[in-house]
Amino acid sequence: MRKYLLPEKGTFYKANLHCHTVLSDGMLTPLQVRELYRSRGYSVVAFTDHNAMLPHPELRTPDFLPLTGYELNVNGPARKTAHFNFIAMDEDNDVQPVLFRDNLKKGAVETIEKCRLAPEAETYVAEYSPENITKLMRTGREKGFFVIYNHPDWSLEVFGDYGGYHGMHAMEIVNYGCVMSGYDDVNYRVYDEFLHAGERIFCVAADDNHNKLPLDDPRSDSCGGWTMIKAPALEYSAVTSALAAGDCYASTGPEIRELWIEDGRVHIGTSDAAFINAKFGVRGAAAVSAGPAGAVNSLDFNFPYEKKWFRITVRDARGFRAWTRAYFADELPPLA
Ligand SMILES: [Zn+2]
Ligand SMILES: [Zn+2]
Repeated sequence: MRKYLLPEKGTFYKANLHCHTVLSDGMLTPLQVRELYRSRGYSVVAFTDHNAMLPHPELRTPDFLPLTGYELNVNGPARKTAHFNFIAMDEDNDVQPVLFRDNLKKGAVETIEKCRLAPEAETYVAEYSPENITKLMRTGREKGFFVIYNHPDWSLEVFGDYGGYHGMHAMEIVNYGCVMSGYDDVNYRVYDEFLHAGERIFCVAADDNHNKLPLDDPRSDSCGGWTMIKAPALEYSAVTSALAAGDCYASTGPEIRELWIEDGRVHIGTSDAAFINAKFGVRGAAAVSAGPAGAVNSLDFNFPYEKKWFRITVRDARGFRAWTRAYFADELPPLA
């Protein structure tokens, strides 16, 4: 029996799940962000200004879906910090669950006046501890938000910090804005650390764009890391439900066109790639290489279910990569 690990039907929608505008410390208006991303083939942007959540229904068009969200931060000693995004699962959810008023900066000071706050929003504390950060992430989840842990390298966080964070749905495997600033926020090792520690989370790629450099600057922080979400329609709950189901992959270039498993054998089909590899939760891997010339467009391998999970990386000739999430043995069809 074949099971599609990315849905057989539906459309891949290109999404930037992390974005800042003039409503906090970004340089573009929400409308300018929409026009930019729409012109580059995106269908979805999550507006995640710092510490202030303002929905943007005015940006909705038949070919563009704005998602409501914001980015929380909790600051620790020695400039360590934890940043995470809340993205509303429900279009009608316009109530900001947590506010740390001391963390408001620039445009967000005015923006917060327009936001709807939960009555208890300011009762939470911004203490930098794994217990408190876990509490905040779980609060977001309970209030109907998709929770993403952001840019650990920029945040100066190591496993001793984020290893204690529980309750997130996903983490940023790439934060393109941090990469363009000079940080190593290509975080596939961090993703593995979470998985090996038993966290069942997904991975996303995002820009975290502030647009302080012009778009034609080679170090512009826009349109370099994205998440492809496969959903039945470009409707709010269809897209957020697909995200919550893990019907998505992260990319800085390559496309993943199909992914399925049949009788324990996994197949992935991709755009032209130089190298495709799968790694398992217990030592074991599979790979295919195009060599110095040519390209490969698929990898097929047997997944031994006792190896717990697998995830696949696709690399193209220019070094750009795409990553699937981890797929766990217990979500795969039983072997005959
Ligand atoms: Zn951040
Ligand atoms: Zn950010």
